[in-house]
Amino acid sequence: MNRDTEARVMRVYRQYADHLNPAWVRLFKFAGLETLEVEAEGAIIRDAYGREYLDFAAGPSVFILGHRHPKVVEAARRELDRMPLSVRMMANEPMGELAELLAQVTPGDLQYVFFCNSGAEANEAAIKLARLATGRPEIIATTGAFHGKTLGALSVSGRDMYRAPFEPLVPGIVHVPFGDAGAVASAITPRTAAVILEPIQGETGVVIPPDGYLRAVRDLCDRRGVLLILDEVQTGMGRTGRMWACEHEGVTPDMLTTAKGLGGGVAPVGAMIARPRLWEPMVKDPLIHTTTFGNRLGWAAAIATIRVILDDDLLPRATAIGNRLMAGLRQAAAGSGLVADVRGRGCLVGVEFTDADVAFLVMAAMVQRQVLVFYSTNRREVVRFAPPLIATDTQVDRAVSAFADALAEAQTLLAEVTAPSTTE
Ligand code: PLP
Repeated sequence: MNRDTEARVMRVYRQYADHLNPAWVRLFKFAGLETLEVEAEGAIIRDAYGREYLDFAAGPSVFILGHRHPKVVEAARRELDRMPLSVRMMANEPMGELAELLAQVTPGDLQYVFFCNSGAEANEAAIKLARLATGRPEIIATTGAFHGKTLGALSVSGRDMYRAPFEPLVPGIVHVPFGDAGAVASAITPRTAAVILEPIQGETGVVIPPDGYLRAVRDLCDRRGVLLILDEVQTGMGRTGRMWACEHEGVTPDMLTTAKGLGGGVAPVGAMIARPRLWEPMVKDPLIHTTTFGNRLGWAAAIATIRVILDDDLLPRATAIGNRLMAGLRQAAAGSGLVADVRGRGCLVGVEFTDADVAFLVMAAMVQRQVLVFYSTNRREVVRFAPPLIATDTQVDRAVSAFADALAEAQTLLAEVTAPSTTE
């Protein structure tokens, strides 16, 4: 091992320990990633020692086109060379063009866009606009949901582990079980402004609701005069095989939020897109909800990302990648006794293990084989695969083979741990 590289790694680890958080250092070591990310291209990340990793964790779900897609980089570089940030006192082309493009590629009459820099901010905007547009304070959210960690987004998220230390959170939020439209119906009151949902709960381990759930909630919201906010931060931008996961059920929300893949893995960009009727209070007072940064570079990257997804026909490719991956994972898991479920839609796939420790063992064993997948911190028995839409069949097969080997290693390890000792 190169001594200079080792010294670089140690220096960065000391900086993390002294100035960021020593817990991160422990986590990297625990996951077998005692190294530095250095460069990346497509589905491959290179580390400080020159090792190459297949990135099927994707950030999680950020690198929809892999790393540094040439067309996204070119679009971002053009802005870098002329004006990466907007002064906000003049109109600009990337912002106008991306807003129009988003209106075109989102379902139904979604038309007006608020831009920001993250998923949580996009959800904050949606929650605030729901209150503003209806004059009602309450929001219905779902248990297990993840909408971000700012105070408003956290308040509609449904994991006690993250919520409890920060209580009291924003008042007027009611949580109902995910996948149960009847529970939403029972929770609606005259004070309800909106229901907020993920079409598939990503962070909670790829939880797919029953068929017809989104449609049923949409109909219910229409009948009861309540807004529907769909959080497509993780499921959007083609990840599930449609540009937006709500298209699988032909549903148009009143507001749709997106981030993660929107910037094509080159820049952080978030957006909230709403129906025109809801925009009236924003027109009345355009300063009522704003943010400082006008990310021209990110908007240009997002335009290029959407164009690549459509021009290169990557939506059916996402479905094909997911189907190949899930078939391979199911075959590898069959008979292992360690996997409870393999599920997913398109390039968002979860493997649920019978035990959270086994999930960690398999993930770490995959890291040793230089394949990165994501451990769901919200549901520790689930390992998530989020391959980029540009992954090749060979890369999918490599991930499956690393999974099969990692599973076999975990089985051997567990057999050793549970075998009766002969020396006692
Ligand atoms: N919404 C969903 C569905 C997410 O998966 C996430 C992040 O994982 C967020 C919101 C929060 O996004 P961000 O971390 O960019 O604030």
